[in-house]
Amino acid sequence: MNVTKAELIITAGNKSQFPEMNKPEVAFAGKSNVGKSSLLNCLVNRKALARTSSQPGKTQTINFYNVQDEIRFVDLPGYGYAKVSKTEREKWGKLIEDYLCNRENLREVILLIDIRHEVGKNDKMMYDWIAHYYERVNIIATKADKLNRSQVQKHIAMVKKGLGLRPTDRIMAFSSVSKLGKDEIWSMLDGVIVD
Ligand code: GDP
Repeated sequence: MNVTKAELIITAGNKSQFPEMNKPEVAFAGKSNVGKSSLLNCLVNRKALARTSSQPGKTQTINFYNVQDEIRFVDLPGYGYAKVSKTEREKWGKLIEDYLCNRENLREVILLIDIRHEVGKNDKMMYDWIAHYYERVNIIATKADKLNRSQVQKHIAMVKKGLGLRPTDRIMAFSSVSKLGKDEIWSMLDGVIVD
């Protein structure tokens, strides 16, 4: 899709603020700093539609973006901050669960993983959680420009193994710097729209 229109619909802090389920949605999850805002901005050809909040604990919201009046991108709150209180963590979990478990128009769930690092405990927990509800999880391995081509393949295999991916899952490498993987991700998203 050639995106010419992308806008924030709502920053939702609780379920009552979620928009009507009248458009297909694709949700993006990942550890903070994994490159989620950069991916969203790259996909919609914008510099700063999605912004990272540098303040841990202040990001317990779900951002819904309207893309071309055809599809919604749903930016789930990041995880993995060291200093997050139990109350904040519980709020995060409830909000994500309220979204993931009750969203009939949610067509694909995308989990971002930094391609350079070993899969962390939080990433594995997040994958298992999503995989429990969804037959297919799409993994996007970010910051691929930091590795050379043969390392990319090696690290993709490492992430596959670390998460314990199933045959139904998909994994692709991406870089918001080189735009590697952008077309592949859009093919997947276009599939959601025409379905
Ligand atoms: P978010 O917290 O997941 O939304 O992460 P951001 O998109 O804000 O990115 C976090 C940091 O990683 C920023 O300094 C970005 O410039 C950097 N970054 C994001 N994507 C890439 C990428 O594909 N390649 C490289 N080299 N850096 C990236």
